[in-house]
Amino acid sequence: MCGILGIFGHEDVASELIHGLTALQHRGQDSTGVVTFNGNFRVKKGLGHVSQVFDDTKNTQPIKGYCGLGHVRYSTVGTPNLHNAQPFAVHYPFGLAMVHNGNVTNFITLRKYLYEERHRLLETSNDVALILYTFASELEQKNLKHLSVEDIFETVEATQERVEGAYSAIAIIANRGFLAFTDPHGIRPLVMGKRYTDKGIVYALASETTCFDYLGYEFMRDLEPGEAVFIDEHRQLHSRICRQASPAFCVFEYIYFSREDSTIHDRLVATERVRMGKRLAATFQRAKLEPDIIIDVPNSAYFFASGMAETLDIPYRRGLAKNPFIGRSFISPTQAKRELLVRQKLNPLHDVIRGKKVAVVDDSIVRGTTAKHLVSLLRHSGASEVYVVSASPPIKFPCIYGIDMSIKQEIIAAHYRPEEIAHYVGADAVIYQSLEDLKDLYHDLPCCYACFSGEYPTGVTNDVVRQIEEERLCAKKP
Ligand code: AMP
Repeated sequence: MCGILGIFGHEDVASELIHGLTALQHRGQDSTGVVTFNGNFRVKKGLGHVSQVFDDTKNTQPIKGYCGLGHVRYSTVGTPNLHNAQPFAVHYPFGLAMVHNGNVTNFITLRKYLYEERHRLLETSNDVALILYTFASELEQKNLKHLSVEDIFETVEATQERVEGAYSAIAIIANRGFLAFTDPHGIRPLVMGKRYTDKGIVYALASETTCFDYLGYEFMRDLEPGEAVFIDEHRQLHSRICRQASPAFCVFEYIYFSREDSTIHDRLVATERVRMGKRLAATFQRAKLEPDIIIDVPNSAYFFASGMAETLDIPYRRGLAKNPFIGRSFISPTQAKRELLVRQKLNPLHDVIRGKKVAVVDDSIVRGTTAKHLVSLLRHSGASEVYVVSASPPIKFPCIYGIDMSIKQEIIAAHYRPEEIAHYVGADAVIYQSLEDLKDLYHDLPCCYACFSGEYPTGVTNDVVRQIEEERLCAKKP
């Protein structure tokens, strides 16, 4: 999963891009990059957080440009390396630069096709290069002297036909304009905003609205599944649904990935989490458990826990302190490292916990590492009973669209029932949101539930899922 931002301005946009990326930092912390255009592409990228790569925001001279793209990366396979950091640019045809968020599922066949049929050698294992090369080669086929809006939309459509999976992409076409498009199912979010300046309108496209609030942009709208938006050099805005399939927005964006202050498809993420917490309360009640307090795993579970507590009329407490300076435990390569990081990250508030029946709410359970450790911590602090509550339904299948729940082998609910998981993590009970309840909450927004149901909206075969899992397994090996 990644965060992307594009700004089509009049004056230098480099520092605005850098600041905007900090508001998308939660979407990826492995690498950061910016490309701007001012007659030439200027790229700067590096490993780490935005503030590490752009440690001197006052000196953006080397990447000055009137339009640009920014990216924060969260690698779902292998170790992060600079070679795969975005953005990417190619100089032919026209000059193109691109960033994307998502995951291409036909990577191997498409790479082979590009090499054998279009004579383009892909030197990285990054999806954006694949999308960019596909777009570039489709454009090249047209053999154009002049590039019309119609040509651009046809090229997007041809690209969408070839590239399978989930992708939201933003691109610069040198001296021609600014382009954004999503996959035909609209799995990943992409929002558009504008800001008025004395030189005219500045447009921005981003993964989430949170960076618009921060940078002072007015939210315009979400992109539709399969839609392309092109803003030409005269700031004329053109849009078209190029290739659309059944819409399937990733519900995990609401559960975990997006920031609580973002609005996606007209829904504030925080409000969605409260709604999920309230739904969870009914399931919890049916289990006839009577906790004294409800606590959350900071930070993403606060809204679920507070919604659930409000509905059940049970006190919500902050029962765990989180060290904000410890990195993400989830994608550490080994189980030992993951456990160490979870230990360093969370610490119980003993007086809150002691002698209490505690329901601890997290957004999800993937491998069970966090839950197992939490239960042991809470028992150590004197909890008399511990119920683990997951705001998401049981995750049973790998996400092949860019969220790191990589291989079935590692996913606990793929192999065990909730009672067995409770036994494994040492809890008195494990309660999950039901998939039916979650679907009911989104009856008016078609979503992707593939990690819960195994129904992949792009229609991949089991063999393709297995092949993707194998690639990920290989990438994890030292
Ligand atoms: P686990 O410890 O493996 O059961 O993973 C669950 C924990 O990881 C929860 O606390 C989640 O907040 C977090 N989490 C779930 N999915 C992801 C993801 N795709 N990337 C990073 N963290 C995640």
